[in-house]
Amino acid sequence: MPPTSHPELSIHDEGLLQGIIAGEARMSPQQALDLYHTMPLQELGRWADARCRAVHGDHLRSYVIDRNINYTNVCTAKCTFCAFRRDGDEDDAYTLEYDTLLDKVDELVAIGGTQILMQGGMNPDLSLSWYTDLLSTIKSKYPSVHLHAFSPPEFIEFIHFFDPPGNNIRAKLMWVMTKLKDAGLDSIPGGGGEIFAPAVRRKIGLGKCDAEAWLTTMHVAHELEMNTSATMMFGHIEGFADRIHHFDLVRDWQDKSIDDFAAEGGGRYKAFISWPFQRENTPLGRCPEWGQGEGDDLSQPFPGDVVAQLDGAGEKTADPLFGRRVKQAGASDYLRTQAISRLYLDNIHSIGASWVTMGPNIGQVALQYGANDMGSVMMEENVVSAAGTTYCLNEPTLCHLIRDAGFIPAQRNNEYNLLKIHDDDASPDLIIDDWSTLRSQKLHIEQENDQASPVELTIEAAQSIE
Ligand code: SF4
Repeated sequence: MPPTSHPELSIHDEGLLQGIIAGEARMSPQQALDLYHTMPLQELGRWADARCRAVHGDHLRSYVIDRNINYTNVCTAKCTFCAFRRDGDEDDAYTLEYDTLLDKVDELVAIGGTQILMQGGMNPDLSLSWYTDLLSTIKSKYPSVHLHAFSPPEFIEFIHFFDPPGNNIRAKLMWVMTKLKDAGLDSIPGGGGEIFAPAVRRKIGLGKCDAEAWLTTMHVAHELEMNTSATMMFGHIEGFADRIHHFDLVRDWQDKSIDDFAAEGGGRYKAFISWPFQRENTPLGRCPEWGQGEGDDLSQPFPGDVVAQLDGAGEKTADPLFGRRVKQAGASDYLRTQAISRLYLDNIHSIGASWVTMGPNIGQVALQYGANDMGSVMMEENVVSAAGTTYCLNEPTLCHLIRDAGFIPAQRNNEYNLLKIHDDDASPDLIIDDWSTLRSQKLHIEQENDQASPVELTIEAAQSIE
């Protein structure tokens, strides 16, 4: 049974907050919005940290070694926040060959990696057998590597591309997903979540599935006993109420999956990760920041907040500047949002820190604001980096950040089971004598001449960690 809601109480009620920390009370959407607007950041962080410690204990914070492989940048969608997609006829449009993909898995295994996160654009030229052959080839060569692949928007496009049998979207999803699972797919990442509210989604996610389809895809995955994650990209045209509505849908559908499938060993959302929009090189990034556009009046609320409703029913007509102004999230907004996600999502085990977009130091601080997991050592990232983010960390640095934040680093797998607890002198960070070599190497983005290769980030670079 989910924890009990007490919508009549103030969110500042000490007993309610203690109940949320203990997992015995549940926050309402209005209480979350009140929390967002009225609680000082550090106090909010203390509550989120208390909840995190109640779930994950006081000592260990985790990370995973995986590789993010973007198998193609050709995409039918035209998300306005995306600098990665190509139509297919450009010089730098690519689809990776199997051999290239296998080489990447090889490199991952060589550094002790346990999973690949594989997502792409939605490429209409790839057949179902291209995917099933790829999965079975990887699985036969690397049976222990966990295949975490294909976000819900990709699955919805698979239905359009492959025209599977079935009378409704659920049956079609079930057919395609079963084929991919049989070929080796282990779990599904939560890409393409963005913001679920229709008014926002219609503006930024052109050609991408709606919230109902996204959530239904994950519900089918849970029925097929696969775990998934959920994500949110915020700090663009949306209002604060849209973020709460997004949390609410994830929490509701998690309840539903647990209700429907847990007794038979079904899957669920294992993690929630949120990150701020990165504007460089994106069409959406050309929108003025709120306050810098012609006629902007900062004494008035941000257009996204005028439109946003806690039930997701906001209409774009509520403000003529909606979708034409961006309000990017800085570090405190990021930490505030993440802290509320920890307190609101009482049925989700892991909250991930987003150092890839926020930088290692804010990622480290995020461990005091409700996050229990630092995500992955980053060997390669192409989507966010195309929009200007260039952070990249190796295992010793990631462990150092976790230890420096007051915790013992622990390597986990996709199930969030701990594989190695780094509590002795042989830990990856403790065997490094000379950190200057890591600090001095600047992260760089390198466009290889080979047209089949995406933008690559160096594996060993890190910005200063002190
Ligand atoms: S964000 Fe993903 S789905 Fe949207 S255009 Fe970019 S590659 Fe395509």
